[in-house]
Amino acid sequence: MTYIHQTISGLQQTSPAQAEFYQAVEEVLESLAPILESNPIYQQQAIIQRLVEPERQIIFRVPWVDDNGDIQINKGYRIEFNSALGPYKGGLRFHPSVNAGIIKFLGFEQIFKNALTGLPIGGGKGGANFNPKGKSDGEIMRFCQSFMTELYRHIGPTTDVPAGDIGVGAREIGYLFGQYKRLTGRYEGVLTGKSLLWGGSLVRKEATGYGAVYFANYMLQDRGQSLQGKRCLVSGAGNVAIYAMEKLYQLGALPVSCSDSSGTIYHAQGIDLDLVKDIKEKSRASLERYIETHADAQYIPVSEYPENGHAVWHLDGDVAFPCATQNELTETDAKVLLSNGCIAVSEGANMPSTQDAVNTFIDAKIAYGPGKAANAGGVATSQLEMAQNASMQSWTFEEVDQKLQQIMKNIFNTANDTAMEYGQPGNLVLGANIAGFKRVADAMIEQGVV
Ligand code: NDP
Repeated sequence: MTYIHQTISGLQQTSPAQAEFYQAVEEVLESLAPILESNPIYQQQAIIQRLVEPERQIIFRVPWVDDNGDIQINKGYRIEFNSALGPYKGGLRFHPSVNAGIIKFLGFEQIFKNALTGLPIGGGKGGANFNPKGKSDGEIMRFCQSFMTELYRHIGPTTDVPAGDIGVGAREIGYLFGQYKRLTGRYEGVLTGKSLLWGGSLVRKEATGYGAVYFANYMLQDRGQSLQGKRCLVSGAGNVAIYAMEKLYQLGALPVSCSDSSGTIYHAQGIDLDLVKDIKEKSRASLERYIETHADAQYIPVSEYPENGHAVWHLDGDVAFPCATQNELTETDAKVLLSNGCIAVSEGANMPSTQDAVNTFIDAKIAYGPGKAANAGGVATSQLEMAQNASMQSWTFEEVDQKLQQIMKNIFNTANDTAMEYGQPGNLVLGANIAGFKRVADAMIEQGVV
């Protein structure tokens, strides 16, 4: 495994202080050992060295004026990581924690995720260290306009097509699109996750959450089980978590938890999804408000979380859906989940489980769907939105949902078959990484040293 150490220590020199990026690279490289050993061409062609270096990194100043008339400055990013398979595709994240290392980990993961969908999309990611919390609509609009005033020159419907992520939903996509149109004079599919009123696709809003649930069901069906009647632990209360819970109800499962950055709700009778939508999507408030309506639910504030862990994973549940953010599920949490009888984990978020937690799940041989496979429904449906924009068509909810289900099934089968082929049946981390890598690496070789 010396190439892993060499690669990581090389990155530590050339891209210092990017812990999440090294973590994502290490996880992928560990899985690739069997394919790299049996195919010397990948080493001859320096594929790993090329893959870990983004094709282009754009870092820019985002100046804007707040409601008090004060000037604010944020840092904007767009990392165009790999275009071997198509235009760069990946979301924009607005969160105070955003830095180059986080955007690079997300962009790196996105390369393999997008490859795994089988669709013609490359990998990229972007965002800003902007905190949308507590900002007025006017402030959000002015920030988005300033952000796009630099970004517009780097993106386009056949070159780089951003979407949403944490802190970037329908409202932000609207303001970003408006400014792009104003600056370029072009009305085109340069962003996905658009409103249904002006070029969006049905099911895009729901796709990541629905997809993670479909993926869990495919994993369980492969083991002779299903989600029907299962008690499910969900973290997060944003776009991914909300639509994961919606699909769980539709498939006869019971989501009993959700969380936000202030705390966790446990409701043994099942989460009141309309109320969560009302609190988080409409009022943009804290989940603490949930217990004002449901006195039988429990609210656990972050200050009462277990040491080295997250309260959600210490509740009783059969299946876990981490849908909030990176590294929100630790080794301690993984062990508690297993001892409470959890049989499956499907990751709606990107890299929510630490490396030790992932190893714990793999060693226990439970059904474990890593984010780059389980949450690929979002980007896949974004590509369906691009296809509809390009052909000036719009498909029905049922048509898009059918395609989403088929894509999730294909992703599961591809990762599962690849894990089998490489002698580690059931290890979907290995299967997803190798299958995604192979598609990108082979395309890179055919396109020459570029
Ligand atoms: P949202 O902004 O809609 O929701 C994020 C949720 O997670 C909120 O409930 C938020 O709490 C919580 N959260 C965010 N950061 C933290 C943190 N540091 N600590 C605790 N809680 C936190 O984002 P999405 O639902 O879109 O994204 C969730 C995850 O899914 C991310 O990992 C994202 O990369 C991934 N993903 C999203 C896709 C999409 O299509 N949107 C596609 C594929 C992956 P609060 O409300 O308090 O801010």
